[in-house]
Formats: sequence, C-alpha cells, structure tokens
Amino acid sequence: MQPPSSNRQAPPPPREGTADERVDRDHHGTYDHGREPGAGTGFEGAEGTAADAITVTRLDLGYFIRPAAEAGLPYPRVEPALAYLVRHPRGLLLFDSGIGAADPETEAHYRPRRRPLTGALAAAGVRAGDLALIVNCHLHFDHCGGNPLLPGVPVVVQRTELAAARAGGYTVGALIDFPGAVYEEIDGEHLLWPGVRVLPTPGHTDGHQSLLVETDDGPVLLAGQAYDTASDYGAALLARTAAADGAAPPLPPYPAWLDRVEEFGPRRVVFAHDASVRCAGGGPARPGAAGG
Ligand SMILES: [Zn+2]
Repeated sequence: MQPPSSNRQAPPPPREGTADERVDRDHHGTYDHGREPGAGTGFEGAEGTAADAITVTRLDLGYFIRPAAEAGLPYPRVEPALAYLVRHPRGLLLFDSGIGAADPETEAHYRPRRRPLTGALAAAGVRAGDLALIVNCHLHFDHCGGNPLLPGVPVVVQRTELAAARAGGYTVGALIDFPGAVYEEIDGEHLLWPGVRVLPTPGHTDGHQSLLVETDDGPVLLAGQAYDTASDYGAALLARTAAADGAAPPLPPYPAWLDRVEEFGPRRVVFAHDASVRCAGGGPARPGAAGG
C-alpha cells in the first residue's frame, strides 16, 4: 500500500471465490503461526529441524484496514502484514519487515496495528542482530517498515524498485534512506544463496520480486504481494493452464513470470497480505471417488 496522496492502482473487483478456494483458505489458516502438527512442511519453526535444514517461518507483523473503496468491497477489508524468516546454513534471511510509521493521513487511511518486528523475531527464537540479509518484495511502507531497525543488514532490492522509491510519492522516505541503510541492487533473477533465488514478479509494482526457497520439503515461493490472495494466485495459475490446454478465448490474462516460477514447481506459495497458503496439486481429494 502507498500513502493515499500517491497514485494507487485501480482496486480489484469484488470476488467471492469458489467453494474449493474457501475450503483452501480455511484449511490452511492453520499455518498462521507456521506450525501444523505432523505437516512436516519445511514451513515451520526451529525446533525439530536439522541444523543445516532450510526452513521458512512466518512472522505476524500486524494488520491494516484497507478502506472499502480501495478494497472494491462494500466494507473495509482487514489484511495481515506477514513477513517470513528463512533459516539457511549461510544465515538468517528476512523477507519483508513490517509496517513502517507513516504520516498522519496515511495512518488514518489504513489504521495499521503493528506487531513489533523485534518481538516477532524473538518469538521465533531470533535476535535482530543475527540477521544476515533482508529481501523486500517491494518498498511500499507496509513491507520495509522494520528495515531501519536493522542498520547495516544488506537489503536486496530490484534496482528499478529502489529508483521508484527514491523518486518520491511512492513510499515513506525515512524507511528507505535511513542511517546505516545498505542496498544490494539487482536486476531481475538472482541466486542469493544455494537454494534461495530472487525471481522478478512485476505487477503490483514494476520492481516487485519474490523469493523461491528450496526447503527440505520442497520449493516454497515467498510471493509477497505478487498477488494479494492465495485464491487470486490460484486463479492465475488456472488461467495459464486453460491457455496451455488451448481453451478458446476469451481467457483471463496471467503474468509472464508465472512460466518461470512454475519451472521450479513450488509446492507452496505464501503471501504478504493473506495467511492462506497456495498448495500445488489438485484434483479430487480421493482419486477415483465419485464426484459431484
Ligand atoms: Zn502491501
């Protein structure tokens, strides 16, 4: 999200979602704190994982209330601000850092409720000083808000995104050029560490990027705000499938980057503003069972 005085993209149309999508959302709400007994997902906390394992842990950094007009709904929508902690043999990586302090107009517009980053990290058993790297999906103030708390920790960002943020009217400037800010600017796809790859996913912003993490339980895509919700992401994947199947137009568009993402076959896709998880696979829950 952006300060209300800046240009904002058109709100999405109201969307109900299919029954299956709602079930998907409800079921995977149990991932809220990154734990589901017996799931063995690689999307979990530190305990019970090998020291050299690559894991992803969700951090709940609060929420904000998107106004009805912006949400495209008859009422406001409350959206979480989620970050992700990647544990890797090379160190600890933070993907997004929460909602930053904004001007009074923006505060009144979004009514954010913040959960402090340091507390969320502590709950995950991590000290802020232990972080090796930050990756922001983009630089709107609800994604890079905690960066100034981590001076000296390199921030990996697309060159175009940083340029947009510095051009003004885009984000909160104090969250970008704060004392101790260090940027690693990249152009497009970039392998950060073995099994940790930045993939450009433009759309919400031109410089938006996602992170593909090869956990021990399969690839997980930290999609940020490439899509607002897991069901929207799933709809885009199905649009791609329908096109590949040769379905007659009209068909919905889907972003070209989905082709590259799918080459990695992510088993799970997680989001910045939706606690639901997109899971790969599909079809009937019990193959061969009579469906209705
Ligand atoms: Zn956002």
